Amino acid sequence: MSDIQMVDLKGQYNRIKSQIDSAILDVVASSAYINGPEVKKFQAELEEFLSVKHVIPCANGTDALQIALMALGLEPGDEVLTPNFTFIATPEVSALLNLKPVIVDVTEDSFVIDPEDIRRKITPKTKAIIPVHLFGQCANMEEILAIAKEHGIAVIEDTAQAISSDFTFSNGEKHMAGTMGDFGCTSFFPSKNLGCYGDGGALYTNDDELAAKARQIANHGMKVRYYHNMVGVNSRLDSIQAAILRIKLRELNDYCDRRRKAADTYDNYFANVPELTTPYRDPRTTHTFHQYTLKVKGADRDALQKHMMDSGIPAMIYYPVPLHLQEAFAHLDGKKGDFPTTEMLCEQVISLPMHTELTEEQLERIATTLISFLEKNRNQ
Ligand SMILES: *Cc1c(COP(=O)(O)O)cnc(C)c1O
Repeated sequence: MSDIQMVDLKGQYNRIKSQIDSAILDVVASSAYINGPEVKKFQAELEEFLSVKHVIPCANGTDALQIALMALGLEPGDEVLTPNFTFIATPEVSALLNLKPVIVDVTEDSFVIDPEDIRRKITPKTKAIIPVHLFGQCANMEEILAIAKEHGIAVIEDTAQAISSDFTFSNGEKHMAGTMGDFGCTSFFPSKNLGCYGDGGALYTNDDELAAKARQIANHGMKVRYYHNMVGVNSRLDSIQAAILRIKLRELNDYCDRRRKAADTYDNYFANVPELTTPYRDPRTTHTFHQYTLKVKGADRDALQKHMMDSGIPAMIYYPVPLHLQEAFAHLDGKKGDFPTTEMLCEQVISLPMHTELTEEQLERIATTLISFLEKNRNQ
């Protein structure tokens, strides 16, 4: 029986090995290692895939968020709303730029930023909202864009976990994750749904001016070489990574189908298990299942995780600690009880192996290991 992994990058590579190997060697031979033709081609192909005017490749998803905040001209003390239940990068960049991250609770069903709590947290100093399209599903962009418009606030979509998910508005319009706000920011970290073989990221925008600014910031604040109009950063995508991403972009729809199929299989196994809540699927957004995350109630979640690990099946807690209780954000004075939904989710969630290479046999083994633990421990 093959090993079960949280993410099987090697199995995925093996299916496209010859294409990838020759693309890498071509870049090596070309010696155009930074911002070479492969980067420009990838940029154009991703723009077409997403139906967005501008893609600005950069070094990683965290940089993308930072560059977006810089391009929007936010100033020290400006408040940036971020969901509580997310990876640290989202509020981290705000703090780094001396902006004030303001933490917002999430929805209990789909774990994304809660529009009602956004309304409660808005002040005259609020300058941006960063919705995170968590685990592969879009936040409620209809509400968020309406609130942002009403208050003149910028929207930066963190779409690191939701490339190729889309959102359908009540008027029937449908848009790709990351192309609805002022900026979309994504990551090509190896384990993301479109991952390269190192670090990589990109910003998306439909605004020509913001695109030019972001491009300039990512390149040391210069438009003309060695003439620097503003303070920028060094954040570039390697040509080798772009060459890999071009190949994997062609596979992305298939990758998403494989993830959804694995999720459907899990859903069937877990449908009638009383301790488990399977992932909610918001009908407005496609779910690309960056993670398959269950909620566990009436059973010992941590003991369950240990049992899975002991049985050779990885299971992870994304995320174990709410942002307001992280030591790095102690200065925001968060207390236990301030964010009831996020705190509850941190105690209940468990994510199962989710990738493009899961077999029926592996899914069955994962599901039966999990269910038999719950059955054994029921009514004790
Ligand atoms: C991975 C991730 C990031 C950061 O991307 P990096 O490329 O690792 O810097 C930001 N936000 C979310 C939600 C992520 O999952």
